[in-house]
Amino acid sequence: MPELRQNFATKEWVIIATERAKRPEEMATHRAPRNPVSFNPKCPFCPGNESITPPEVMRIPADGGAWNVRVVPNKFAALSRDAQPKRVIHRQRRSIEGFGVHDVIIETPDHAGVLALMPDAEVANTLRCYKSRYNDLCLDHRIAHVTLFKNHGADAGTSLEHPHSQLIASPVISYQIRQRVHEALRHYDEFGECMFCQMIEEELEEKQRIVMLTDHFVALELYASPAPFSTHIYPRRHMASFGDISAAEITDLARTLRTVLAKLYHGLQDPDFNYTIRSAPSEWVGVKYFHWYLSVIPRLTRVAGFELGSGMFINTVTPESAADFLRNVKVEAAVAAAEKV
Ligand SMILES: [Zn+2]
Ligand SMILES: [Zn+2]
Repeated sequence: MPELRQNFATKEWVIIATERAKRPEEMATHRAPRNPVSFNPKCPFCPGNESITPPEVMRIPADGGAWNVRVVPNKFAALSRDAQPKRVIHRQRRSIEGFGVHDVIIETPDHAGVLALMPDAEVANTLRCYKSRYNDLCLDHRIAHVTLFKNHGADAGTSLEHPHSQLIASPVISYQIRQRVHEALRHYDEFGECMFCQMIEEELEEKQRIVMLTDHFVALELYASPAPFSTHIYPRRHMASFGDISAAEITDLARTLRTVLAKLYHGLQDPDFNYTIRSAPSEWVGVKYFHWYLSVIPRLTRVAGFELGSGMFINTVTPESAADFLRNVKVEAAVAAAEKV
């Protein structure tokens, strides 16, 4: 029997369509494997082509030698650093000149690199760049919200093969983020606790939707997950802003994120995916009612007419079976087997 489930945090309903349900392994992508080369002389992100990108914002290591991670402004930025964030109100119309920051984080010099297969220490370097840029931009009074995200593969919206993530800092808070923060505040006012901390506690007790648990993070499938294998990673310590992550937590998040991505990579044959860090807007840093998280969304299904018309998603894999499947993808064993081939 299909089931309607409500996302407690957003109040959105999803249809868990068990009649159309597919076994998790049937969701694996079946296309030719990507086989990029380690170096592409035409790629603007490959080593040696640094002069093609706009002037660098930061790099790791910072000493100017060979780099592990670089951050550069996006050459085709959605928002401009040079615009003025002045609000114009005319009758019913509101506008702001397109001010904002749009950076690219080049995750590795290796054109063929894949986060899922990288050493944890290298993933941690990318996360350190996220934190540094995130905190710098939150200090800019013109910035209201910073979104960190990664698009992997054509179905996830990327055309550039070289592994990279992006950051967009905007002078406004989107309606969706504002709604979610308000919902979280309403819950805090009513129950006196963070709704995400409460959810994490309940999920740890029930265990059936947990994918992995570390000292500092928990990865799980949401009870009302809108899409198959969409996996959320939450810090176990209450933290509203990603910018408050500690050095030890970055190391742990690198391992957790890399393992979740590797489970998807090996279990579903390198699906296209997006991930994004949802963090409190800069004016709400440190609040007790919001809790940041990282959301990984494999692009295994397409948004169709029903979703567009109703705003309601149909998920054909139950969150419980998705969690069970991912728990049982033994990443270290898969890596060892791949190395033998
Ligand atoms: Zn490249
Ligand atoms: Zn919390």
